[in-house]
Amino acid sequence: MSSKKILVLGSVNADHLVRVPRLPKPGETVAGKDYEVIPGGKGANQAVACARLGGQTAFIACVGDDAFGAVMIQRFKADGIDTQAVCQVADQMTGVALICVDSQAENCIVIAPGANAKLTTRRVQAQQALIAGSDYLLMQLETPLDGLLEAVEIAHNAGVKVVLNPAPAKALPDELLTRVDMITPNQTEAELLTGISVNDVVGAAEAAGKLHAMGIETVVITLGSQGVWISEEGNGRLVEGYSVTPVDTTAAGDTFNGAMLVALSHGESLDKAANFANAAAALSVTRHGAQPSIPSRDEVEKLVA
Ligand code: ADP
Repeated sequence: MSSKKILVLGSVNADHLVRVPRLPKPGETVAGKDYEVIPGGKGANQAVACARLGGQTAFIACVGDDAFGAVMIQRFKADGIDTQAVCQVADQMTGVALICVDSQAENCIVIAPGANAKLTTRRVQAQQALIAGSDYLLMQLETPLDGLLEAVEIAHNAGVKVVLNPAPAKALPDELLTRVDMITPNQTEAELLTGISVNDVVGAAEAAGKLHAMGIETVVITLGSQGVWISEEGNGRLVEGYSVTPVDTTAAGDTFNGAMLVALSHGESLDKAANFANAAAALSVTRHGAQPSIPSRDEVEKLVA
């Protein structure tokens, strides 16, 4: 199968997860159980999704010079990711998410960026050849904005398709948005970027119109269990999601983004790519955790067939 080159730029986090009977109040200590460290971070999740689902994938990221950083790089390699541009930064800790989940599945999360904060302009410039030699650049918003702007500039000038998953939700400068070819917000992120509430396809169509008006050619708004609204130059339609019993929606959006890029990199249409991505993301919500929940290509092909 001919495959274009996907380059993911973004964050790496070690998710430290503890189950608690209830979330602690300020000053309170609660006894938890089932402590686990699960590989996460939006950039890493999306790179793993791309590679595990059969995409030719390279990753630009920063991890710490701690044990977690070394383990993360080994795992990326095991998934088939090109890790040449994953840097172990001296005197930094790998990014971390501290997560408590209570018996109602309510959570509270604290994130410390650690080495992710070092993915700035200079480090991105050092990867100019890798960026310019790719076909797709996929980015999120968990690393510094100046590095993202530099990457977008290099990609845009080299004719590389820029795909932005604008997560976690935040306002963005025009200089970033005007260089993006495809944007993939969820409902909350679409609302923050456009000011339009996105609860159904009517809202999604309206929000997509606004994003097109900002100069973005392709808009892909994920709608949770409903599936996804895809819109190319104002021509929009719903691609319905797969019906599953959700267990944990962590990394659903990341799996969706990775899977969609893989299908596009194999020459599929946007409709087919969205369907493949819905299937991959639906499988991910039936499993716990971030990277461990991302399915293999065989599993997705069985569901799509
Ligand atoms: P995020 O995880 O970024 O908040 P969404 O909730 O929109 O984004 O989910 C992303 C994609 O994951 C959806 O477009 C859909 O394909 C899939 N998905 C999410 N939740 C479910 C669910 N409950 N059942 C089936 N698919 C789901």
